[in-house]
Amino acid sequence: MRLANKTALITGGNSGIGLATARLFVAEGARVAITGRNRETLDAAAKEFGPRALALVADVTDIAATEAAINQAAEKLGKFDIVFANAGIAGRTPAGSASPVVFEQVLQTNVTAVFFTVQSALPHLRDGASIIFNGSVISQLGNPGYAAYAASKAGVRAMARVLASELSPRRIRVNVVSPGASRTPIWNGAAPTPDAFAAFEKRASSVIPLGRIGEPEEVAKTVLFLASDDASNIQGAELFVDGGATASPAGAPIFRG
Ligand code: NAP
Repeated sequence: MRLANKTALITGGNSGIGLATARLFVAEGARVAITGRNRETLDAAAKEFGPRALALVADVTDIAATEAAINQAAEKLGKFDIVFANAGIAGRTPAGSASPVVFEQVLQTNVTAVFFTVQSALPHLRDGASIIFNGSVISQLGNPGYAAYAASKAGVRAMARVLASELSPRRIRVNVVSPGASRTPIWNGAAPTPDAFAAFEKRASSVIPLGRIGEPEEVAKTVLFLASDDASNIQGAELFVDGGATASPAGAPIFRG
């Protein structure tokens, strides 16, 4: 049990990567508070995880509601050892037809809300705690149509470095996990049918050196590493879980003879 007696807060813990991480954390002995907007999936997760989990409805873009949920979680579960600021959205904002509303929503959810989640959690964080942000390969790869999303994830990386400086006096570590394309509901908008998803998966896999998209459990295991004492000297880092997409793109199947 790598997280025995630890307490974690996971935003967006009711779906995809956040849910896989909450599941792994509970299995590793942690008490876990998850937040999200969807009451139904939050309830399902709470039922699955049992008494060591607390599921709270809170829209991260509502800073006061999120602060209230975090206060409530700390009251019930105690001080936090881990915060995984994971909730995020991937709206499309292609140059020429981007809507200012979508652009702002992406930045509010993926950047502003991440900062205020940390600020609200700070009074409840133990010294030596671990904060993990969810970044993305898209901050490096320049995928067309994703200007706001890419900017938001580059913002997350920059914020992690600033917060690592600010929180080092309390030995609080702040790091980023940056997944490549992974099999979660975030793709439901861009690839709404099984056929559309299969086509997307084939296309995405062709530019990933390991030749496949990722699974949320693979990201969860990396978050567990960053959260645990095994990462005790890792501060302000960004760890990619992307099959080599950012580091060694020339090795991707599409370039092989
Ligand atoms: P997902 O299954 O769609 O999960 C997104 C989570 O964020 C959900 O739990 C959702 O909760 C929550 N969320 C979104 N907006 C919220 C809001 N305003 N308030 C509270 N919760 C909110 O997608 P995912 O892939 O696991 O995404 C998790 C993170 O991974 C995101 O930051 C995403 O950018 C990042 N990421 C994903 C991939 C990928 O390919 N899957 C790649 C790189 C990075 P509700 O459903 O209740 O709204």
